[in-house]
Amino acid sequence: MTLRTRITLLVTLLLAASLLLLGGGVHGLLKEFLYRSLREELAQASTQVVRLLNTGGGELLSVGLPSTLYAEVQLFTETDPAFLAKEGGISVQKSPALGSHRLVLSQKAYATLLQKGEVWAEVALPRERSPLRLLVLARKVKVRLGQAEWNGALLVGKPVEPIEATLNQFTRIYAATALLVLLLSALFARRLVRQALEPLEWVAKKAGAIEARPEELPEPQSQDEVYALVRALNAMMRRMREAFETQTRFLADASHELRTPITAILGHVGYLLRRTPVTEAQRESLEVIKREAERMRKLVEDLLELSKSGAWKVKPLPVHVKSLFEEVREEFSKGHPGEIVLEGAEDLFVLGDPDRLHQVLANLVTNSLKAKARRVVLRGMEVGERVILQVQDDGEGIPKEHLPHIFERFYRVDKARDRERGGSGLGLAIVKAILEAHGGEVWVESEEGKGTVFTLSLPASGPPPPLGV
Ligand code: ADP
Repeated sequence: MTLRTRITLLVTLLLAASLLLLGGGVHGLLKEFLYRSLREELAQASTQVVRLLNTGGGELLSVGLPSTLYAEVQLFTETDPAFLAKEGGISVQKSPALGSHRLVLSQKAYATLLQKGEVWAEVALPRERSPLRLLVLARKVKVRLGQAEWNGALLVGKPVEPIEATLNQFTRIYAATALLVLLLSALFARRLVRQALEPLEWVAKKAGAIEARPEELPEPQSQDEVYALVRALNAMMRRMREAFETQTRFLADASHELRTPITAILGHVGYLLRRTPVTEAQRESLEVIKREAERMRKLVEDLLELSKSGAWKVKPLPVHVKSLFEEVREEFSKGHPGEIVLEGAEDLFVLGDPDRLHQVLANLVTNSLKAKARRVVLRGMEVGERVILQVQDDGEGIPKEHLPHIFERFYRVDKARDRERGGSGLGLAIVKAILEAHGGEVWVESEEGKGTVFTLSLPASGPPPPLGV
């Protein structure tokens, strides 16, 4: 997940959590307020009715109460809450809103009422679709019937539906508003984060585009954190370039300096071998010196080559693959027991430097022949915009664990054996450097005892324009 998505998601989640909390809080407060008002209203109504009852207001419930108030005066001949919860007390008076219904509390509510003299309870009156829920305040009162005074209760209730409807409406409006706010905020946050991260992405893109040699990045106009980052990166890259250049210069100078004494050694050994009488033992020693000096010359040449690789500028030309293959076959067919076969490169052209590509193929074929291949296939094919070249041999193969390192400098599979065969351990490193300078790629597949395939991918090209045009 990108940083941009993560920040946007985090901001949106935080906002969603805050909106949820806020919504929950306001809903709770609103509910509390509405129920408190209802309770106050019921308490007031109940007090008024009690006062009227005390002053003997006869059929007051049927005439004196608003139609939305549900009230009933009950007389208790029993004080068993279980009995009362089943039947209710004897209904003495009822408000018109109740009609044929009764206000009957639960057993627990009756018990509290009898014990404490007052209770808040919920009562559900049967109705067509869903029961009508009422909030009821029940108070113990004295009920006078004729001359006798009985224990009883006054129950006053009002439907909670308007409150629930208000709360539901609030929830709906709030949820829609919150969703809209959330959506707009997410879009806004995404845009803002993108704007904030754009310069960093620019730095990453520029830094990613830098190839082998570190180049400095253009400094942005703004004097902000990105500017500081680019400056720090540039300072680091300057130091890297200096180190790289020092190393390259050292390598080039050392190789160059070594070439002269090696040439002198080879010259003198050749002279001694050809022009002076030497004993058999001396000849043997001189042959060893000659062989080792030649190995050293190859090593030094490879080193010099590699040291220059960072500065290679390939001038790409259309190169006829078949001709290239034929040159290589010509070069290697003599003095080796293995045969070199060409496959499918008839009208193929790649874009590259012919000498360097020759060097690549020569290095690969040398390796194949050193690995005792009896048959080396040079193969070419076109795949889309690329040309694929392969050097396949049936030699010793490379053990699997060595494959990831094979293109490293001085890497040899079997140090003693490969030294004996005259390798510097730089051949494949040079191959890779040349391919990279061409914007190409190289990879290897191999099976021990069966053989090896090196595959090169290079940009394809059309044939060169005819001369004189
Ligand atoms: P060198 O110059 O010593 O040949 P390279 O970099 O060309 O070094 O190759 C590295 C090692 O990879 C070699 O020492 C050799 O053991 C192994 N190698 C390369 N090509 C082949 C091949 N076609 N078959 C078997 N082994 C190979």
